[in-house]
Amino acid sequence: MTTPWASVDTDVIDAVDSVIAQTIAPQASTVDAAGEFPAAGVAGLAEAGLGIMLMGKSLGGTDTSTATYAEALSRIASACGSTSTVYMTQMHAAHPIHLQGSPEQIDRWIPALCEGRAIGSIALTEPGAGSDVGAMRTVARRDSNGYVLNGEKTFISNGDRADVIVLFATVDTALGKGGVTAFLLDTATLDGFTSGAPMKKLGQKGASTVTLSFQDCRIPEATRMGDEGQGYPLLLRSVTRSRISAAAQGVGFAQGAFDAVVSWAIDHDLLSSKTAHAQDLQFELARLRGDITAARAMLMSVCDQVDHSDDEPVAEVSLVKMHCTALGTTVAARCVELLGPDGDLVSLGAERRLRDAKIAEIYDGTNQIQSMLVARDIRLGAMHEAEVGGRG
Ligand SMILES: Cc1cc2nc3c(=O)[nH]c(=O)nc-3n(C[C@H](O)[C@H](O)[C@H](O)COP(=O)(O)OP(=O)(O)OC[C@H]3O[C@@H](n4cnc5c(N)ncnc54)[C@H](O)[C@@H]3O)c2cc1C
Repeated sequence: MTTPWASVDTDVIDAVDSVIAQTIAPQASTVDAAGEFPAAGVAGLAEAGLGIMLMGKSLGGTDTSTATYAEALSRIASACGSTSTVYMTQMHAAHPIHLQGSPEQIDRWIPALCEGRAIGSIALTEPGAGSDVGAMRTVARRDSNGYVLNGEKTFISNGDRADVIVLFATVDTALGKGGVTAFLLDTATLDGFTSGAPMKKLGQKGASTVTLSFQDCRIPEATRMGDEGQGYPLLLRSVTRSRISAAAQGVGFAQGAFDAVVSWAIDHDLLSSKTAHAQDLQFELARLRGDITAARAMLMSVCDQVDHSDDEPVAEVSLVKMHCTALGTTVAARCVELLGPDGDLVSLGAERRLRDAKIAEIYDGTNQIQSMLVARDIRLGAMHEAEVGGRG
């Protein structure tokens, strides 16, 4: 494998490519058509030692750069959107545990997630709260032995499969974001907990997305991660990685659709033909390749900032999430168009990438919410400039 990105570990990417070729790509269209959970692909990555790349080796991870993880995830997404979502959710669960779990919680769950012995899930969104975290209504009420959970989460990836759930609940709805607290739940020990059936979806159909219900569900105090009220700051730190995941998927969906058109063009002898129609296609492919390359460069650059900046590059992460997920949809849509009526054919896979891409614009904070974060950063930057200028 060749890559111009110095921070991408090519050995890791070669190992990922091998699992993609052997297990993930051959099953991708079946996973989509049957809405089948992509267990084999996720297990294949874990068996190859690639379970969760951003965790240290002592915990069973690969200890790679964020750029390596993003490149790997974009390749997995290019082959199979469902597998990429289940795979990234493992990391999205492990990351907050790593940041704020107790030593016991870390030792118990992170190696299990890395090795594929456990499936993880992260549960924030509710029917009336997601973008607006302060509106959270899943309550963790203190009692003598710990907490009693009541409420409902929705659109939770891996929720019906999860052995472990990172749950965000509020200890006091009157406190808004200040009441949000994180808990780590072992689903095998929970009474009063149920998960719904996988939702029927537009894309990523094999990645199960479910509701979770808690009814007088008693949990010990030791399940709490950090102090009461520390859930929101944890959430803010966690989304940096999950938004990188969505961005990487966007690049991957664009690449997968692009590759489908190139294969089709080869089959129809359109890459070397000099007819006007063939040349239009060739020039359009050149333009799309430029768009994908530029988005990948932006992604790699922001990944490097994530690894090397003292502060979380919040606005840059929002920008790359917004840009790359939107690119996934527009490039995949253009690829479907370029195929003409064949764009409608499931066998070519471009339509699958288009369906998979759209929803990445919505999860991990909608692109409108990302725009708001970037706009706030522009405003703060302008205020800072004015202040510094004023002092000068
Ligand atoms: C396939 C899938 C998987 C998911 N997996 C998970 C998961 O594993 N865990 C989890 O917790 N959640 C998950 N989600 C939920 C997802 O992250 C949220 O649905 C998403 O972030 C949007 O939040 P919301 O549901 O509160 O939508 P809303 O905030 O209600 O958004 C509705 C619309 O209003 C717009 N909007 C909202 N607020 C503003 C504002 N202030 N200004 C302008 N426009 C605004 C939004 O952009 C959107 O267009 C998943 C969702 C999907 C579809």
